[in-house]
Formats: sequence, C-alpha cells, structure tokens
Amino acid sequence: MSPNGKIGADAVLAKGWLGAHKWLLLRRVSQLGILALFLIGPWAGIWIVKGNLAYSLTLDTLPLADPYVLLQSLLAGHVAEKLALVGVAIVIGFYALAGGRAYCAWACPVNMVTDLAASLRRRFGIKGGARFSRATRYWILAMTLVLAAASGAIAWEMLNPVSMLHRGLIFGMGTAWAVILAVFLFDLFVSPDGWCGHLCPVGAFYSLIGKTSLVRVKAAQRSACNDCMDCFVVCPEPQVIKPALKGAGKGIGPVITASNCTNCGRCIDVCSKQVFGFGLRFNNKVADNAPRGETAALGNRP
Ligand code: SF4
Ligand code: SF4
Repeated sequence: MSPNGKIGADAVLAKGWLGAHKWLLLRRVSQLGILALFLIGPWAGIWIVKGNLAYSLTLDTLPLADPYVLLQSLLAGHVAEKLALVGVAIVIGFYALAGGRAYCAWACPVNMVTDLAASLRRRFGIKGGARFSRATRYWILAMTLVLAAASGAIAWEMLNPVSMLHRGLIFGMGTAWAVILAVFLFDLFVSPDGWCGHLCPVGAFYSLIGKTSLVRVKAAQRSACNDCMDCFVVCPEPQVIKPALKGAGKGIGPVITASNCTNCGRCIDVCSKQVFGFGLRFNNKVADNAPRGETAALGNRP
C-alpha cells in the first residue's frame, strides 16, 4: 500500500491523477453514455436507441439482445423472433471477443452502485462481513434457468436488480429503488463485493461467454511489482490476479485468463509500477523467471 495508506496514492504520484484514473473514467463515460442513449428517447424524443438492456434497436436498424434473457425466454417456452436472434448473435460475438464480464464493468448500471459501496468500505475501513463461495452465482444462474422452465415465465427478470435498475431509470423507478438500496447496503455492510462478485447470475452468465475471449489484462511487467497490494485491494475479483502476477515460478504466464476478471482496468490504474496493461490472450509465455517472493498477505488472498 502507498506510504500514506491511501490506495493508489503512489500511482497518482507516478502517473498523475488522470493517468491513475484513466480506465475508471472511461468506464463511467461508457456506463453513463449507454444510459444516456436509452434515456434520450423517452426524455427528449430523440430515438437513437429504443428498448432497454434486454432488447434494443439502434437507429431502427441494429438489434441487440441479452442472451441470458433470451435463454430464459426460450426455456419458458417462448419462440424467439429473427431480430432477437440476430441481436443475441451480435452481443455474444462482441463479448466473446471483448471478455464477457466487460459487460459488468463497462455496461451494467449496477456496477456504479456496487463500486460506490466498495469505495465507501475502503474509505471508512468497514471490515469483515459474510463470506461465501464465489461459485454461488453459478448456482443462482442455474436456478433462474430452472425457474424459467418450470414457471413458463421469465420470472427472474422481475427481481433482477440489473434489469430493474435499467428499466427503472428509463420508465420510472417505482420499487426498484428498494432493491438497488438493498444491493448497496448488502455490499457496504454485509459482504464485500457481495452482489457482483458472489451472487449476480448476469455476471456469471457473461463470464461463461467470455471464457476464451481475446482481450485480457496482462501483468506484462510483473517483475517490477513491489507488493504494495493496491491492485488486490481495488480488484472486485482479486483471486484472478495472483496466478498472473505471482505465477512465474510455477510456469504460469502473465495473462489474466480467469473469466471472472471484468476487464475493468482498475488494477492498471492503481499500479504505480505499470505492471498491468490490456492485451490479447496470446503470448502468455513465462518471460521472467525471477519472481519476487510472495508476501504472506498475497498468499492468503481469496
Ligand atoms: S502489481 Fe504489484 S506494484 Fe502493482 S499495484 Fe499490484 S501489488 Fe502493487
Ligand atoms: S484483474 Fe484488473 S481488470 Fe480484472 S477485475 Fe481485477 S482490477 Fe479489474
């Protein structure tokens, strides 16, 4: 950690404030820009995009559809229209290349809520909380699919905070506020990175889509790491960092291959040693065979 105890302070000193927040700022532009494109229609009558994150039509031409919603719909017994199938193919193609969970960091509006909770946890030193398996999200994903098949309805979408927040922002929040507040308080007080990191089936679904995606974060300069731990503290999925950052001695390459990495780029931002960068999943050879010793803290990360 930076000498004054503030996460990312060394990175600000080394790269300047903008350099140490570049990917965070770009993500907020992306998340808010996507929301603005959806809102400008109902609010100002400028219909660039019609619909919501489940299904949208851009400029009356480009269909985009959420494959997770479509899968639930098919299991519920509905027949997909051609435009929806085209929209799903485009979305799957994009996230299969870009990293499935890039959806979580770059498009999902709930990410801004959970990022705020994580930031407040760090700022006010809120420790502890419930610990449960990160695999829980896959069980919930499976449960929602079974629920759709058993009920004949896309039942989960009535409760899904991602869908509720997006629909609420466009058409009016109603009871969605309570659900979003519950997610925020859950992450703040009950479980760190609880919703996105452990429970959300949308993130679980996109992590499956992005398992072999080309765009990855890479610890190309890992031999420069000074074990400050800042990247582990800000990462919503810290377990994905250690193999790439500290695995040279075990013959593990520097590419973060774990599909639960959200490609958020925050580890790139906060590292004063410029260890990380975006790249492709190829060239994952062990170039440096002189890894620094792992700290006990690194060894104990989840
Ligand atoms: S890669 Fe090393 S130097 Fe960079 S933030 Fe992580 S622990 Fe610190
Ligand atoms: S490893 Fe880096 S890019 Fe991936 S989730 Fe963690 S902070 Fe974000």
